[in-house]
Amino acid sequence: MLRRSSSYEALRTRFDWDLPDDLNMAHQTCDGWAATDPDRTAIIDLTSGHRRDVSFGTLYQLSRRVEAGLVARGVMRGDRVGVLLSQGPLCAAAHIAAWRLGAISVPLFKLFQRDALASRLGDSGAKVVVTDDEGKGMLRPFDCAVLTQKDLPDAAMATRAAVGTGPEDAAVLIYTSGTTGKPKGALHGHRVLTGHLPGVEMSHDFLGQPGDVLWTPADWAWIGGLFDVLMPGLALGIPVVAARADKFSPDFADWVIATGSVRNVFFPPTALRMLKAADTRLEGLRSVASGGEPLGAEMLAWGREALGVTINEFYGQTECNMVASSCGSLFDPEPGCLGRSVPGFTVAVIDEDGQLTDQEGDIAVRRGAASMMLEYWRNPKATAEKYRKGWLLTGDRGIMEEGGFVRFVGRDDDVISSAGYRIGPAEIEDCLLTHPAVATVGVVGKPDPLRGEIVKAYVVLKARSEVPEQELQDWVKQRLASYSYPREIAFLDALPMTVTGKVIRKALKARAAAEGGNS
Ligand code: ATP
Ligand code: MG
Repeated sequence: MLRRSSSYEALRTRFDWDLPDDLNMAHQTCDGWAATDPDRTAIIDLTSGHRRDVSFGTLYQLSRRVEAGLVARGVMRGDRVGVLLSQGPLCAAAHIAAWRLGAISVPLFKLFQRDALASRLGDSGAKVVVTDDEGKGMLRPFDCAVLTQKDLPDAAMATRAAVGTGPEDAAVLIYTSGTTGKPKGALHGHRVLTGHLPGVEMSHDFLGQPGDVLWTPADWAWIGGLFDVLMPGLALGIPVVAARADKFSPDFADWVIATGSVRNVFFPPTALRMLKAADTRLEGLRSVASGGEPLGAEMLAWGREALGVTINEFYGQTECNMVASSCGSLFDPEPGCLGRSVPGFTVAVIDEDGQLTDQEGDIAVRRGAASMMLEYWRNPKATAEKYRKGWLLTGDRGIMEEGGFVRFVGRDDDVISSAGYRIGPAEIEDCLLTHPAVATVGVVGKPDPLRGEIVKAYVVLKARSEVPEQELQDWVKQRLASYSYPREIAFLDALPMTVTGKVIRKALKARAAAEGGNS
């Protein structure tokens, strides 16, 4: 665990990855606690609409039953096991069971439609999928064995001896969000969970204070749900709330927090924007972490007032997560920056030659960090392209500021080049979001014969709001720079979003390019 410190510098210099030769995430998240403290609460299960506390002992028994079911279906070390389940004890147990067998779990999202499931099942070659009745129906067209709660054998049937694994042995194959292209499978070893812990602890202002209880509305099929919340909570012995809503709403968040005694939440920025748009206030939270998209100055200010906390923005990606973070109890966040390197990581901004630069450049992570993937699944070419001279390239652009704060400019492909200026969409979106009528916004470059590209903003207004285009343009001009204001603004009812709630700028860009003829 991260030892509490009063100085960020001390925290960093004191830190050391202490990876044992024997490492298995099943032991880390469940078996260890089940042996030493079986009555300790692992999961606060609200999925039935009532609260049921599930102990580590109970979780262990459930995982042993899943394990027995997997063994009966011939699962061996290295086989892929799909987990098509939303938040709930069985989802956790399925991953744990696969890991105990030395198999590779593959989180799958319940909202995937046929093609999305087909590509991931095909690419991963999953032998068995652990799911529920609904998932069983979804899987009917595919050629893979299925295991549901009803099929689970008795735990006593799990007789195979635990498989010895180490930090570099494959454990989980997790697909990226597909914001910029086809989702890529990032293969991680058993060290991936250890690699997440310092960042999770930091982004929750030293997670593990008495009374801490974790929750996220993000699905456990994504790196943000699975490795920023569920598995770190289990590993650190902090109860994790499981809850299910078909659609996130402020009332739902309020109910979960009250019923589950939640104190620590990871809210993706989309969820925060929905809370803010509805003027929600939430009581009783000790820490709120957010990441996956830029948070923005406006949200930071709102969080202090409506949630009573300084929201800690963190940064990372499916391939290498939780690499930078803020920590309100250690230092003031720098609005527009995604935090500072988490202990154990070196996040830098590098140029074409892999040298550090104080100009805008590629955000990169020093190779060797514990949460770094082993490789892209069966794709050596993509793996090779992911690195430059000992650095993992995130594909994002940024500027290194004083004190090691990294300013997020935008994804490599999203940076707008207009009349010789390089303009990051993040800053303009953040600025437009401070306008009282704006609910969400996506900013992209639109091809322009004169300027190369112009800044185009797609804006969704708050219910019953109206605002002239000129007012929004002036809003940006007066706050940022005369060259970076959106020359064109279009008002939409909704923005194209990934299932993880990220704005798909690629789709907006295609739309802008197809529009043609501009001012
Ligand atoms: P794909 O790689 O398939 O296009 P994706 O990059 O959205 O999808 P993820 O791995 O889920 O898939 O997301 C990681 C990316 O999210 C980062 O590379 C970065 O672009 C963005 N991101 C994460 N945290 C932040 C943050 N705090 N601020 C800005 N952007 C962030
Ligand atoms: Mg990515």
